Amino acid sequence: MTNPATPFEIARDTLKQLAQRRIAPTPDNYLTLYHEIAGTKPASQDFPERHLRSLAAALPKGSPDQMRLARQLDDAVKNANWESYQKHLTTFVGSLAESQKLAWGELISDLLRQWEAKHQGLTAARKRESLEHVLGASASNPDNLFNRLQGLLRSWGQGREQEGNVAVNDVDTPKIDLATPSTASSDPELLAELRELFAFTLETAIATQLIESPQLSSDARQLAADIRQARKADEMQAFLTRLKRFAFKLELLAEDQGELRNSLLGLLRLLVENMTELVIDDRWLHGQIEVVREIIDKPLSQRAIDDAERRLKEVLFKQSQLKASLFETREAIKQMLTGFVDHLADFADATSDYHDKIESFADKISAADNISQLESVLGEVMRETRNIQINAQRSHDELRTTQQKVRESETRIRELELELEKTSVLVRHDQLTGVLNRHGLEDMFEKEISRAQRHDTVMCVALLDIDNFKKLNDSLGHDAGDQALIHLATVCRHTLRPQDTIARYGGEEFIILLPETNLKDAVLVLTRLQRELTKKFFLNDNDKVLITFSAGVTQMTEQDNQGSVIKRADEAMYEAKQTGKNRVVSR
Ligand code: GH3
Ligand code: MG
Ligand code: MG
Repeated sequence: MTNPATPFEIARDTLKQLAQRRIAPTPDNYLTLYHEIAGTKPASQDFPERHLRSLAAALPKGSPDQMRLARQLDDAVKNANWESYQKHLTTFVGSLAESQKLAWGELISDLLRQWEAKHQGLTAARKRESLEHVLGASASNPDNLFNRLQGLLRSWGQGREQEGNVAVNDVDTPKIDLATPSTASSDPELLAELRELFAFTLETAIATQLIESPQLSSDARQLAADIRQARKADEMQAFLTRLKRFAFKLELLAEDQGELRNSLLGLLRLLVENMTELVIDDRWLHGQIEVVREIIDKPLSQRAIDDAERRLKEVLFKQSQLKASLFETREAIKQMLTGFVDHLADFADATSDYHDKIESFADKISAADNISQLESVLGEVMRETRNIQINAQRSHDELRTTQQKVRESETRIRELELELEKTSVLVRHDQLTGVLNRHGLEDMFEKEISRAQRHDTVMCVALLDIDNFKKLNDSLGHDAGDQALIHLATVCRHTLRPQDTIARYGGEEFIILLPETNLKDAVLVLTRLQRELTKKFFLNDNDKVLITFSAGVTQMTEQDNQGSVIKRADEAMYEAKQTGKNRVVSR
């Protein structure tokens, strides 16, 4: 065979040889024969091998499946088995598509199922939060998203929220090991949140409460700074140790403050007791002070302290009024007495002097020898008599002035009493029973309404009226009636909760405010009060007297004001009276 010189000749010879050797005219056979004739190396042999090998090498090997595929392709290239190469590649891609499709479907239905299922210790909010976290972190990478979602659902299924998050985040963030890994979260984000919350609590909630203990306050701030910095397990451990020490000091402080509170209360009790000694014979004041004492003997609450404060203010106010009027009276009497004494002394002096003089004049007259002597004695008598007259007039005038002063003092005292009566509208408590009066009720009602609105709670109002009270007054006397009213108020105070308000609305009518109470419970409260009254009899001269009442109870609505709600309670109370008394009607 001659060596063909040009590619054209080589191509022609190749075709000829294919025919002569009866080789199938495939492109591969053509290529092989072409190189044989040309005496060159077949470039085509290098082409698929090199490129396919580099393709196999470039494929990801992240999972066992991917690694297996790379190995299979590598083998196929080595053996130049392109059929096998093709088979493995198509099988893998096919299975990948198939498995991914299936898994997403399953995953989503699993997600729906677990979303609706109840998991112990996992709230819906926590689920949403962790799902949003996963979606946000891997939205751009479907593979990651798939894996993380799977991890999340696995953790939900096992009821392990925190470990679930660890599994999800383990993929790309290192885990922080805590001293107690089984309970503490290792999710860095959750941990950061927890750390910040801890720091915030220490700094804002605790440090600010410790104004009177600057050292502890600065300890709390330092601990907040520490926890913000702490990243490693040993730093956390050190923080925990310092925190324990801090908690111990706080406990000691709380004990100290408890003691301080008790001694302050003791002091208040002492003051109140001494005030009882100071106040003059005024039953109302004694009653008020007794109530204050009762309040501070019970566990303290803001309401109780407010109540005690208001009552003490009233006591102090009334006491100052009484003191002022007493002072005026004393001054007036003192002045009057001094005036009298002075006047009496003057008068006595003047008159005894006059008598002495008259005596000496009488002697002079009887001893007088001539008319001129008599004349001079008479002149003296006239002078002295005029003097005594002037003196008497002066005394008379002085007496008048004193009398006038006393009258003025009396008027001033009356004015003071009137003033006291006028200002008594400022007083918020009923003087007989010690419960709030109408004025006090108005204030309290307003406060309770806004408290109920603020806390979005329900409130009930009851109006009660003593049954056949007129008869009791008529048969036992007005004083016994008064005592019966005091008895009812006392039983109310002891039966109701400290946060309930009792007010005397009229003669024998009382209003009760029941915050945070629904209508059903309010009726029960009033029924219990009725029962208490049958147990705690009112004693009049050792005779047991049963006091009953009729009551109307109603629940405050958003549209209500004080007037409308009292009106409704009154209507219900009227119905209770109409239907036999001694009963509770709700409306
Ligand atoms: P009902 O069962 O229908 O309520 O009859 P009642 O007798 O209780 O009612 P009524 O309104 O006829 O009489 C109320 C009486 O209460 C009349 C009044 O003298 C008496 N009262 C009002 N305030 C006081 C008070 O401060 N002390 C005393 N002892 N009695 C009072
Ligand atoms: Mg009445
Ligand atoms: Mg009545």
